[in-house]
Amino acid sequence: MYWVSWNQVLASHDKGGLDVGSLHAFNHGLLFKWIWRFVSQPNAIWVSVIQVLHGARAGIDLSPLQHKGVWFNIINTFCKAKDKGIIPNHILHFKVGDGRSIHFWLDNWRGVDALKNKYGRLFHLDTEANCLLADRCNDEGWKWSWNRDIRARNEALLNDLIGKLGNVVISHGTDSWHLCLDDDSDFTVSNTRAYIDDRLLPTTDVCTRWLKVLLRKINIFLWRLAMDRLPTRVNLARRGLEIEDTNCVSCNHNFESVQHVFFACSVASELWRRVRIWLDIHLPIFMDWSEVMPWFDSWQENEKTKQKVYVIFAALLWHVWRFRNSMIFPGEALKKSFLFDSICNFSFFMVFK
Ligand SMILES: [Zn+2]
Repeated sequence: MYWVSWNQVLASHDKGGLDVGSLHAFNHGLLFKWIWRFVSQPNAIWVSVIQVLHGARAGIDLSPLQHKGVWFNIINTFCKAKDKGIIPNHILHFKVGDGRSIHFWLDNWRGVDALKNKYGRLFHLDTEANCLLADRCNDEGWKWSWNRDIRARNEALLNDLIGKLGNVVISHGTDSWHLCLDDDSDFTVSNTRAYIDDRLLPTTDVCTRWLKVLLRKINIFLWRLAMDRLPTRVNLARRGLEIEDTNCVSCNHNFESVQHVFFACSVASELWRRVRIWLDIHLPIFMDWSEVMPWFDSWQENEKTKQKVYVIFAALLWHVWRFRNSMIFPGEALKKSFLFDSICNFSFFMVFK
């Protein structure tokens, strides 16, 4: 029996997962690193070999590739990922040098995509579809060549294009390819992997709260608690298991649901009461986890204090669950009278370790 889908586990914390990351996205990231190497190490011998076999633009698109093989498969994967929208179209783009290698309309060098895609009407009016950036821009400004007069709508489009292009500085250096998800960061496998996962994996409205000071198993326990995916007797019965008695093992008065075990049950409510006195803050009486986090997020306190209180909440819930399990499964039974002291010790250990 599984409690959470594997894809949900793989998703990032922001998307409500455990940030494990998928092998699929990791593999894509590693493959794309070869393209990053290709464009960022133009003088490497292996790059020259690829270019001799496939042409100078062999790392950029599929069309010049003459031979199927490893390099073809890498570029093919890259192109398919762009076509499916898994990675942005402009992930591979030129940085402007002298503008003599950049095809003004056809290459990704400004904005989010090749200019011909957004300014198709102007592209078709240009006398030379394959013109270079250096043909259209020099020290004196833009230099256009239209096959007929630009008027009305096309003039507005041209003004929009010029506004978007801003100040393009033509230098004496050579143009160079760059592979990155946005202008502010360099290519990394981990960024690419996260970017792809965020687009392919399921998302939930609630982000995963992950506190580094807490043990991993407790963070995961709280994550499951927030989604009501803990194996309480009620949840086991819901999933088709024949449970003779679905009552709470501690009080035997109510169904053993997450709400009951962690909030309404006499064991839990007594611990919440003592925590309330210990913290000496106005803490509402919670009846469900869904009430805890909204209160927590709206609580006007500094982050350090909030973190400590969250650790105490986590310790309380964790001990309630351990106590419940010790009543069911063989092994050392936890004593109810020691639970609060254990919660205090545990919290201090987590906060000050
Ligand atoms: Zn109970």
